[in-house]
Amino acid sequence: MSRVYNFSAGPAVLPEEVLQSAADEMLDYKGTGMSVMEMSHRSKAFEEIIETAEADLRELMNIPDNYKVLFLQGGASQQFAMIPMNLMKNKVADYIVTGQWAKKAYQEASKYGKVNKIASSEDQTFSYIPDCSDLPISEDADYVYICENNTIYGTKYKELPNTKGKTLVADVSSCFLSEPIDVSKYGIVYGGVQKNIGPAGMVIVIIREDLITEDVLPGTPTMLTYKTHADAKSLYNTPPAYGIYICGKVFQWLKKLGGLEKMKEINEAKAKILYDYLDESKLFKGTVVKKDRSLMNVPFVTGDKDLDAKFVAEAKAAGFENLKGHRSVGGMRASIYNAMPTEGVKALVEFMKKFEEENM
Ligand SMILES: *Cc1c(COP(=O)(O)O)cnc(C)c1O
Repeated sequence: MSRVYNFSAGPAVLPEEVLQSAADEMLDYKGTGMSVMEMSHRSKAFEEIIETAEADLRELMNIPDNYKVLFLQGGASQQFAMIPMNLMKNKVADYIVTGQWAKKAYQEASKYGKVNKIASSEDQTFSYIPDCSDLPISEDADYVYICENNTIYGTKYKELPNTKGKTLVADVSSCFLSEPIDVSKYGIVYGGVQKNIGPAGMVIVIIREDLITEDVLPGTPTMLTYKTHADAKSLYNTPPAYGIYICGKVFQWLKKLGGLEKMKEINEAKAKILYDYLDESKLFKGTVVKKDRSLMNVPFVTGDKDLDAKFVAEAKAAGFENLKGHRSVGGMRASIYNAMPTEGVKALVEFMKKFEEENM
């Protein structure tokens, strides 16, 4: 068996220990004689899996009791519609557009009401986070929406926007569990799990209880109503059971590691290795305003498209996979999520140094 260093933005690297443990349990989960994939979601064994997963996530994120945790299908993108359908009582929402994912969420919400783009960083190809200390928040806004870590562009909010008392909704897909957050500052925190936590197709929604109501937009499907899933503890229909199981293992892995404070320390040290090199390199440069740099997604360029392509090809041959930048921006991007070992980043930097020497 040989594993590569996988810098994919998502689906992305998972802890080897988690994959190994899932492999060990593949044919016979804890003496049940079956795989988690094969068991009823109403069984005792699965009940324990989902309840433990929720309890561990609550502990890791210090989730207050007045928030529900929902394990849902449809990935992060399903939430682009589910949020306005459930929250737009006044049919008004404010969006801060800092990248493609925020833009998609903004466009989707526009189908359901009056949606205001109250700030954007599109003027500089989303390479920074706008000042959000005093934005023109709408009087009757049902919520203010952000994408907290911009997977494609590599920016991250270091401070949450001042929403002037309005409910904050955040997509944290690509920074989920990378560092502690104060859940009480949000109305909804949600993320697709395939960036930092588990297999694709699943989204975790952490939602304040007062936002879970029957008063949703007319025509909202049962499956897209938060109350359906909150009332049924994510078991209204068959949930993404195997995904929940893997997420649960990643929560256990994080707890064993020392929790989110420790994860943050590791992530900061890991990202610093790459950013420090980018800052001193004469060939490669980071594309993002320094103060807004993401700990998870690190885009960089040489300034020469052919050289970028040569780098990506040579890196791949050397065992560094998925370093090509998003198709909308080009260049390179190293996604260094929780499960990317520090040695992987060190090895990448050594490889970049060698490439720099050979190509300058
Ligand atoms: C990947 C990603 C999405 C889309 O996730 P899907 O599960 O594919 O819908 C949305 N938002 C952010 C920030 C992402 O990184």
